[in-house]
Amino acid sequence: MVMTMNEELDESNEKYKFLAFYDALTKLPNRYLFRTHVQASIEKELDFAVVSLDLDNMKHINDMYGQKAGDEYLEFIAQKLSLAVSGEDIAARLNGNQFAILLNQPGDSKLLINKILQLLKVMNSVWEYNEQKIYSSASFGIALYPEHGKEYQELIQNAEIAMFNRKENGKNGYEFFNHDMQEQVLNFIFMRNSLHEAIEKEEFELYYQPQIDQKSGKLVCVEALIRWKHSERGFISPMEFIPIAENTGHILPITMIVLRSAAQQLMIWQKKGYTDLKVAVNVSGHVIEDVETVRQLCRLAVESGIPRKNFEIEVTETAIMRNLEKASKSLEEIHAQGISIAMDDFGTGYSSLTNLHKLPFDILKIDKEFIDTIVRDGEGYIYKAIILLAHNMGLKVVAEGVETKEQYDFLRESECDSIQGYYYARPLPVDEINILLEHELRVEENAG
Ligand code: C2E
Ligand code: CA
Ligand code: CA
Repeated sequence: MVMTMNEELDESNEKYKFLAFYDALTKLPNRYLFRTHVQASIEKELDFAVVSLDLDNMKHINDMYGQKAGDEYLEFIAQKLSLAVSGEDIAARLNGNQFAILLNQPGDSKLLINKILQLLKVMNSVWEYNEQKIYSSASFGIALYPEHGKEYQELIQNAEIAMFNRKENGKNGYEFFNHDMQEQVLNFIFMRNSLHEAIEKEEFELYYQPQIDQKSGKLVCVEALIRWKHSERGFISPMEFIPIAENTGHILPITMIVLRSAAQQLMIWQKKGYTDLKVAVNVSGHVIEDVETVRQLCRLAVESGIPRKNFEIEVTETAIMRNLEKASKSLEEIHAQGISIAMDDFGTGYSSLTNLHKLPFDILKIDKEFIDTIVRDGEGYIYKAIILLAHNMGLKVVAEGVETKEQYDFLRESECDSIQGYYYARPLPVDEINILLEHELRVEENAG
């Protein structure tokens, strides 16, 4: 069939109109149409809720099966959603994997929650791709009009804040916005944005915390602990920014900065004659499961010329369990370079001796939480059994977070190899570590 020019124009006009208000991929209303509907509800002074919906495993699907699969998955979800919303309610795709739902006249909260639970249930379904079953789920954040915002922008932002919160506290569920969340999320946004600049300007400093050998009483190793020196906020703890860096992809460049700086410092100490001193660096699971980055790290270690026997990395068991297969590959490569590997935070996560046995660990670091129970709960016997087991596997044992004389005395009696904690020293800047090292050297010279 041949179309006339006018007909062609009409058709492309229709297409154009459609694309202006609907998402081309999923055919759901887009953000403009969604906003128009929300604004209409505001004008009519209706009771309504704005739900921000984020797909929990979108990234995983894109990473594992590629973008085409990701698009198909979005279409699948969109279809589920449009079937699930009814009447005046609207489901829209705002962008990427972010959807929003307008629930009109939620009336009493019970009814609203029922609607939401129903939607969550719909999201929990099975998507089949290339004969694989993939389980879908979503996280919802909800803002109510007018309590949580009187305008579209505020409502959608607050719904997103609630959704972020939901994701932080475990996915596949819903969360209502509240004003306490706001500060938390604004802080998150601030951190995420300024981390980028911090990396470019290298606004970080490494502190080093001593590990003392039990038998000789000598400083044998220092653990590098990162500090962010923010121009306005002062020092920011790694507990605050490392988890954010991990979730925003900033952890790779940060790890590079830490390794480079720790390697340089190790070389300086070597040249000063502290040839036995070791340096330990923390490496996140996000880095360990990225085998290519691990290779880059190994290259960096080789190129910097550091004696690798003086270099250690610390990984937590939780980090390894994120992707056991890739992590064990990475650990093997690191180990093959002659770098030692410590299992960090033992006693907090899975604490499986099988992992300890199967993977190339050299050191076991017993976490502060566990050390605290020794004296408090009289659980020293468990600790002694673990040390014995670790020694039988050929591992050295480090006790971390040792704060009291009682703990220290107990650890001296047991066969623990070294201790780290405020009882001996806090993490210190390089200058103060140098003072400790010089002091030790003088004591040795006097003794000799
Ligand atoms: P972690 O690896 O378990 O490091 C030990 C943490 O316990 C350090 O906190 C240290 O200051 C603290 N600590 C040591 N002894 C004691 C003690 O006797 N009492 C108490 N209350 N605390 C003690 P910090 O420096 O705030 O680091 C926190 C966490 O941040 C580290 O825990 C580690 O998971 C992470 N982190 C630090 N630097 C880096 C880094 O360069 N890369 C990565 N990926 N993570 C890092
Ligand atoms: Ca550590
Ligand atoms: Ca720890």
